[in-house]
Amino acid sequence: MTPKYKRVLLKLSGEALMGEQEYGISSHMINMFSRQIVELADLGIEVGVVIGGGNIFRGLSGEEQGIDRVTGDHMGMLATVINALALQNTIEKLGVQTRVQTGLEIPKVAEPFIKRKAQRHLEKGRVVIFGAGTGNPYFTTDTAAALRAMEIDADIVMKGTKVDGIFDKDPAKYADAKKYDTITYSEVIAQGLKVMDTAAISLCMDNDLPILVFDSLVDGNIKKAVFGEVIGTTVVK
Ligand code: UDP
Repeated sequence: MTPKYKRVLLKLSGEALMGEQEYGISSHMINMFSRQIVELADLGIEVGVVIGGGNIFRGLSGEEQGIDRVTGDHMGMLATVINALALQNTIEKLGVQTRVQTGLEIPKVAEPFIKRKAQRHLEKGRVVIFGAGTGNPYFTTDTAAALRAMEIDADIVMKGTKVDGIFDKDPAKYADAKKYDTITYSEVIAQGLKVMDTAAISLCMDNDLPILVFDSLVDGNIKKAVFGEVIGTTVVK
């Protein structure tokens, strides 16, 4: 079996790391993701990971607590760094080298994001985990995933979600929701489908970067997707 993609950017949400918990990092989930990432790396696939922070803090929820949006977003970005470090640790315990690069500079903890360095790490077989999103408030880690995917010349951005792809309506609420195997960027935007935020979608659309939306909670799905099995929904031109 040959892989369909050589270099991928995997977006994992912070919430996926929670598992059954209400907050924080579940060791079961982080190990499940780490094992799959290590499997890819061992097969020679170059893997960049953007990790969210919703399991710890989101800028918007900070507003409800009276925290200014920009401060809340800074807190949210720091939350993604916590997740990035945890993921780095679990992956390295499984024997694969990693680097964390951050969009906000925290040089005693991780490298700053430098495209050329990131590419070099990937070429050497290291998994590169991108923390602190884009480094800017008012963005999300989905946009960071699209941005980093382009910067590292990834073949695809693989967005892990809780459902198996994109549906015409919420499958949790409607039993007759229809799943798309492929869909265009314009359809996603026109129908207001909640896939990634519009900034992320437009970035991918403008630069012709395919997006795969898939269920990351199913163990084994990441490898299946990389090897071209039809899972989830692919967003293309
Ligand atoms: N965030 C930000 N700029 C970015 C990426 C993230 O300000 O480029 C902040 C924002 O407050 C966001 C939080 O970090 O709510 C956590 O990221 P996100 O909500 O995307 O995480 P996920 O939903 O994937 O867990």
